[in-house]
Amino acid sequence: MSETFVIVGAGLAGGTAASTLRQDGFDGRVVLIGAEKHPPYERPPLSKEYLRDESSFEQALLQPLDFYGENGIELKCDVRATRIDDREKTVELDSGEQVAYDKLLFAAGVKNRQVPTPGSGLDGIYDLRTVADSDLIRREISPGRKAVVVGMGFIGSEVAASLRQSGVEVTVVDRNKVPLRRVLGEEVGRVIEVIHRDHGTELIFEDTVAAFEGTGRVESVVTSAGHSLGCDFVVVALGVEPVVEPLVGTGVEIDNGVVVDEYFRTGVEGIYAAGDVANHYHPVFERHIRVEHWQNALKQGQAAARSMLGGGEPYQEIPWFWSDQYEHNLQYSGFHREWDELVVRGSLQERSFVAFYRKDERILAAVAIDRGRDLRRSVPLIKSRQRIEASRLRDPDVDLRKLVTAANTRL
Ligand SMILES: Cc1cc2nc3c(=O)[nH]c(=O)nc-3n(C[C@H](O)[C@H](O)[C@H](O)COP(=O)(O)OP(=O)(O)OC[C@H]3O[C@@H](n4cnc5c(N)ncnc54)[C@H](O)[C@@H]3O)c2cc1C
Repeated sequence: MSETFVIVGAGLAGGTAASTLRQDGFDGRVVLIGAEKHPPYERPPLSKEYLRDESSFEQALLQPLDFYGENGIELKCDVRATRIDDREKTVELDSGEQVAYDKLLFAAGVKNRQVPTPGSGLDGIYDLRTVADSDLIRREISPGRKAVVVGMGFIGSEVAASLRQSGVEVTVVDRNKVPLRRVLGEEVGRVIEVIHRDHGTELIFEDTVAAFEGTGRVESVVTSAGHSLGCDFVVVALGVEPVVEPLVGTGVEIDNGVVVDEYFRTGVEGIYAAGDVANHYHPVFERHIRVEHWQNALKQGQAAARSMLGGGEPYQEIPWFWSDQYEHNLQYSGFHREWDELVVRGSLQERSFVAFYRKDERILAAVAIDRGRDLRRSVPLIKSRQRIEASRLRDPDVDLRKLVTAANTRL
């Protein structure tokens, strides 16, 4: 009897897992269930070139449209999994259909955080997660219009940059002192701040939105500090939270997403999770981490599929992501929450550097602006967990590739 593998979430992780199952020879039934109208696609362009009308949706598709049919993957779009029954091994869909599974991959990603605010139901207020959201914002863009962006994490920062590049007058409101403070800290956040200001984006920090005002449609944003910002439209980008609702009532542990081991297995036999939703054990950082980035979803989709097939190895990829803002390319690798020293190679002022977040002299993560090569060379340093002298990291004449010594790995 051939087996049925069901994947909940037809995004990057789910779509990649489905194609990996076929590539690796799985000849059972593969059912890929997605709440959106579209087959799996990549989200990074939605806040960048697609939003600026510089690329098409077809370019963002993970696979050509006929790929799924040709590979015997049953793709169900525009349908949502509402409940998973881990005893009966079934998935209930909002269409009323029930799909039985032998193994299930949960890859439903994250949803935008909603912060209840007076006036948030007015027209002209958007958030961004899907191509449909990006299309709505695109329709608002034209030179000289005014936008307020709420929140300056990665998506808020990228949207602000794209709007500005499209000639929109942009004001950003953020509760922190600098952009991206939670991930990058104050020193690097300050560099991003200056980049945005230099492009004419207005930034208001240490303030929050008290209300959206307008008649039928948003006309202004009132902040807690008393600013009243006239605008034509608003984009809210206040972070995300994992989608876990269909798993409620199962034995799967939910804690900052779906808790899985380094093989993407939950504690319930036959149920796996991958991508933005997975809080996975990472052997290098010796802890569970949940990562919301493209490379992570892609690699985990592949690895989880192999694990479902009974193979695979403990997942030890070092997380990596990029962000494009104006003419600058930012890249980050590793995982850090706290650090005791930021060691900079290059110059923060000149906006060309790689900076290392170190704790106990070990590099947990690195961030680079317009230094992709240095960033790539930093990944083995993170993976090795070696203690490396700050002076050698700073010295531009020291080749980063030569800093990992075989005898000294995994102290
Ligand atoms: C605007 C934007 C820009 C980004 N830019 C970058 C970038 O520059 N660099 C980078 O590294 N990362 C970027 N990312 C992050 C990256 O896109 C995500 O990390 C990646 O898409 C995660 O893949 P995933 O498969 O885990 O989740 P998703 O791609 O979110 O896919 C999950 C899918 O599951 C579906 N789903 C949810 N609930 C259900 C349900 N109950 N039933 C069925 N289907 C369901 C969702 O509709 C969604 O289609 C960006 C994200 C966004 C939104």
